[in-house]
Amino acid sequence: MTDQLPHLDTSRSVADRVAHLLALMTPQEKAGQMLQLDARGDLEDVVLAHHAGSVLHASPERLAAAHDLTARTRLRIPLLVGEDCIHGHSFFEGATIFPTQLGMAASWDADLLARVARATAVEASATGIHWTFSPVLCIARDLRWGRVNETFGEDPFLIGELASAMVRGYQGEGLTDATAVLACAKHFAGYSETQGGRDASEADISRRKLRSWFLPPFERVAREGCRTFMLGYQTTDGVPITVNSWLLDEVLRGEWGYTGVLVTDWDNVGRMVWEQRVQPDHAHAAAAAVRAGNDLVMTTPGFFAGALEAIDRGMLAEKDLDRAVGRILALKFELGLFEDPRRPEPRRQRAVVGSDDHARLNLEAARRSLVLLTNDGVLPLAGGLVRVGDGPTEGPAAEAVRTVAVVGPLADDPQTQLGDWAGSSGQADWLPDGQPRSMITTVLDGLRAAVPDGWRVTEARGAEILSLAPDPEGALFPDGQPRPPVVVPAEPDDALIAEAVAAARDADHVVAVVGDRIELVGEGRSTATLELLGGQVALLEALEATGTPLVVVLLASKPLVLPPAAHRAGALLWVANPGMEGGRAVAELLLGLTEPSGRLPVSFPRHVGQQPTYYNQVRGQHGSRYADLTQTPAFAFGEGLSYSTVAYSRAAVAASPLLTVADTVRVEVTVANTGDRPVRETVQLYIRDEVTSASWTDRELKAFRQVDLAPGEERRVAIELPVAECSIVDGAGVRRVEPGGFEALVGPSSRTEDLLAVPFTVLPPG
Ligand code: BGC
Repeated sequence: MTDQLPHLDTSRSVADRVAHLLALMTPQEKAGQMLQLDARGDLEDVVLAHHAGSVLHASPERLAAAHDLTARTRLRIPLLVGEDCIHGHSFFEGATIFPTQLGMAASWDADLLARVARATAVEASATGIHWTFSPVLCIARDLRWGRVNETFGEDPFLIGELASAMVRGYQGEGLTDATAVLACAKHFAGYSETQGGRDASEADISRRKLRSWFLPPFERVAREGCRTFMLGYQTTDGVPITVNSWLLDEVLRGEWGYTGVLVTDWDNVGRMVWEQRVQPDHAHAAAAAVRAGNDLVMTTPGFFAGALEAIDRGMLAEKDLDRAVGRILALKFELGLFEDPRRPEPRRQRAVVGSDDHARLNLEAARRSLVLLTNDGVLPLAGGLVRVGDGPTEGPAAEAVRTVAVVGPLADDPQTQLGDWAGSSGQADWLPDGQPRSMITTVLDGLRAAVPDGWRVTEARGAEILSLAPDPEGALFPDGQPRPPVVVPAEPDDALIAEAVAAARDADHVVAVVGDRIELVGEGRSTATLELLGGQVALLEALEATGTPLVVVLLASKPLVLPPAAHRAGALLWVANPGMEGGRAVAELLLGLTEPSGRLPVSFPRHVGQQPTYYNQVRGQHGSRYADLTQTPAFAFGEGLSYSTVAYSRAAVAASPLLTVADTVRVEVTVANTGDRPVRETVQLYIRDEVTSASWTDRELKAFRQVDLAPGEERRVAIELPVAECSIVDGAGVRRVEPGGFEALVGPSSRTEDLLAVPFTVLPPG
């Protein structure tokens, strides 16, 4: 091969270069180009025998080897390197691990998420990653699902806001920028609509429902230029998404005009054969996947022989591969990989991976992710502090010396604190011990470092959560992937409880850090229950009985059902896996060095049987409660306390309440900080459409604004919303605004009783 080859001529257009390269490729090279294979496997087989166009899960050493092997191939088509950098560069030792997506969603701050994604891209790109499989746009529905932590929560509007911010952050100034990484909107679409929370089960979901709530966030990022989409595992109406021509051709490529690259999820093509059993063999499965418009086929090595066999048997023509291969090559040309394969850059890595700047951003993200759910006044533990500007004060004011007992199995569990898709969470085998302990601040570390001079911090474990047993069905799934072990909840341990009780009795405050562990989180790890497992409930009850003021820190990947002792505690703080700086952020908040500002992106149930508990359910059912329980959640979407109090008043629609679809509705409300501490308030605007032609949700979040208010400060907050956004999807599946009566609902949470209602009318056209 020489430089004279036209596809290497950078003065030519991408389309021209693609056409020239395609003309040189054999069917084997084309089928291989469509493959994204696991770099943990035999790399010679991956690169030389299968001609893989892309790899994922490459340790630094194996990444170098994969590139070297690629340089030995006939056409030297550069590799596209993907990884799940979904809250930081998860599997690179020493990278900055941020709170999980669900944690960051609690900030309701798109700008913050854009900055986090940018920092992640800067780190990942320096290590040779071109593509991150993030963000996740699935809507949290049944909370038993193991992947709730990966979502932005339950609301399509909030998901769209935050997802598009992350896409902007990852892709940066454009693909030619060396720090840009490709974003991937996943899992398209409806994957989270599980049966009973069971992972990848059939999603029983109508096209209208998809168009109503599941597709809008995807449509938004497609139109905003998210370069890749990943297709979910599930089937809908009997059709795996990978071959769902309505969704892929009609909607995504057709209506939305999407020209980006589609990647299947893990072995989706093989699963049609061995799991869903809707294709007799890999030849048929490969032919169906190609015809449906998939571009990259993730980790189905059998696609290679299958596609070639399909061509031999006349089920596919060789040129049928060209569309997908052309799109993959175009992406590689746009990234400039033929000129510079973007291999790891050790110097840049040393400068940016885990940098101090990123640690500061991480601390900001962790602080903003914390949601204070209850507080009888026990918090802050060290009162009398006033935060100045964005940072904490220099230190707590003079206080009486106190003792804080920090108890619970998660008070000092660094890797659990990072959550799924991080270090040792199970997907990467080259970080068996997870991320460096020295980079992680646990709640115990954080309190020890942040308490006022002279205060004492004591500790006790108090409970175990679980142990593991082998799955009786065997260690591996039929495709050779490891089966997660079975979780065995621990029994309450009297000795551990007694130790914790003694510590609590001896203290002025007890901070109990309880929640879930990585074994209860993630793919194939959905939970049947949502309760605190093991000895944790008994521990909380015993601590409550001591009478020492109790603060419960719920370090949980997703909303859990809390026992009465947690609800009765002096304060309850939800901390979704908060990343490396999480313990410091928690300690600062408990001590009053920072103000709580997180708001729930997802509702908390009172009982697992209430599933699903999302706020925007469709109107119309008999009554509003179960015979034996209310249907209201324990804590609702949008909720979250500050250390101050905020009053809403005088909500109004500015100018005329008679509007047309072309107008903008301007909603105003007075928001007053009625307490004595600063507040960052999230003012939420929901829309209620009084009468709809097809059943619809009672209210939907349409906009929000965050305002900082000093103690005693009052502000008139205005939110403008195009009337065109006040739409529903009608019975025919068409999204439109239906003229008639509406209400703008404005307030601090999605609860009806928290919202001030202002009517307005949308007039019919003409
Ligand atoms: C997950 C995806 C992930 C992929 C690659 C799959 O099992 O569903 O979210 O991006 O693996 O690791």
